Amino acid sequence: MAHIIGANCEKCAACVDVCPTDAIHPTKDEADFESQKSLYIDPDNCADCAVCVEECPSNSIFSESDLPADQKAFIQKAVDYYKNKK
Ligand code: SF4
Ligand code: SF4
Repeated sequence: MAHIIGANCEKCAACVDVCPTDAIHPTKDEADFESQKSLYIDPDNCADCAVCVEECPSNSIFSESDLPADQKAFIQKAVDYYKNKK
């Protein structure tokens, strides 16, 4: 299980700074920051600590089990993002 960034991410990057495992990308200094519509949590590196949830101003971060049904596609979007990155 991992936490998931859903549909309302505004790319403020507040979550990036608090994540203890550096699991949220792209960061503002990565080349694809501008081109990505959202940030993504690496499911292989997320420790499920939930620290990022409180930081998000748009309430976009959920545990996988709490992710709204109409945002389930974001689970696969994160997997695909990191598959392409590695
Ligand atoms: S739940 Fe914790 S480890 Fe996972 S992305 Fe959020 S801050 Fe990082
Ligand atoms: S804190 Fe929320 S809105 Fe900001 S980048 Fe992270 S997920 Fe997106």
